[in-house]
Amino acid sequence: MTVTTDRAAARRSLEGLALGDAFGERWFPLIREPRQALDEIRARRTPEEEPWHWTDDTAMALALLRVLDTHGEVRPRELALAFALGYDADPARGYGHGMHQLLPRLLQAPEKWPQLARGLFGGEGSLGNGAAMRVAPLGAFFHAAPERVVTEATRSAEVTHAHPEGVAGAVAVAVAAALSARGDLRIADVVALTPAGSVREGLARAAEVPFTTEPWRAADLLGNGQRIRADDTVPFAVWCAARHPGDLARALWTTAEGFGDVDTTCAIAGGIVAARTGVGGVPRVWLERREPLPGTGGEEPASSARSGAGGS
Ligand SMILES: [Mg+2]
Repeated sequence: MTVTTDRAAARRSLEGLALGDAFGERWFPLIREPRQALDEIRARRTPEEEPWHWTDDTAMALALLRVLDTHGEVRPRELALAFALGYDADPARGYGHGMHQLLPRLLQAPEKWPQLARGLFGGEGSLGNGAAMRVAPLGAFFHAAPERVVTEATRSAEVTHAHPEGVAGAVAVAVAAALSARGDLRIADVVALTPAGSVREGLARAAEVPFTTEPWRAADLLGNGQRIRADDTVPFAVWCAARHPGDLARALWTTAEGFGDVDTTCAIAGGIVAARTGVGGVPRVWLERREPLPGTGGEEPASSARSGAGGS
C-alpha cells in the first residue's frame, strides 16, 4: 500500500513531544515541591533552571521515528531493537518498571518481542501509558491515511505493550496527532477510531467536558496519569490538546495544571499540538533550556541525572 508520508509533520510533532516531556518534568515532585509547582504554574512562571532534560518518552519517540524514517513503516523487530538500544545507551531516563524488565531482554533477542511483551505483568502485557507517550510523531507521519495511522500505531504499541488498553492508548494519541496535523482535531473523531475499552470510554467522557472547565477539575474527572495507565493518562492529555489546538505553550501550561504523570501528559499533548503548530510559537527560552535532541545540530545528550517515575 502506497501512502504519502509527511516527515516534516512528524518532526514537528517530535520537537513538541520532547519540549512537553522536558517542560512537564520540571513540575515533578522530585524537582519542585508540589505547592511551589502549583503556584508557579498558576502564575505561568517559566522554570529558570537549565537544561530541561527530556525523559523516556522522548528516547522512545526518537527510536520510533528513526524506524519510520528508515523503513517507511513500523517493523516490529527493528523497533524492539531500537527501543532496547536507546535504553542501553541511557537507562536513567525515568523508564517505568515494566520497561526496566523488558528492554534488556529485547536487546538480547529483539525477534522474541511477542512473547516477551506479553509476558509482562503476569502474562497480561502492559496497559501502561508508555506506548501512548511516544507515538504522536507516527500519527503525524501517516496523517494522510487515517486507517494506516490505526494499524501502524497498533504495531508500534504491541512491541512493548501487549495489553489491549496499552494499544488503545497509542491508537488514540496517534489518531489525535494525525487530526491535529490536518488542522481538524476533535475528540469525538478520536473516539471513533479508538478500539473499544476503558481508554475509549475515557475519551468519550473527555468529549463531554467543556473547554471552559478548569484544567485541575478536568484532570480530576478524567485522570492525570498518576496510575501510569493508558486509560488514566490519554483522555486528559487529548482534552488539553483539543482545548488549545493552535497554541502549544497554552496547551502545555494547561496540561501541567493537571500534575500526575506530568512529563508524559505534556509529552502527549505537546506531540499532538506541535504536529500542527511546530514549536516556533513558544517562548524562545523554552527552546534554549530544553536539552537538545540528537541529530538537530545540538550536542549529543548528556546522561540524564534523573530517575523517577515515568511511563511504564
Ligand atoms: Mg518520562
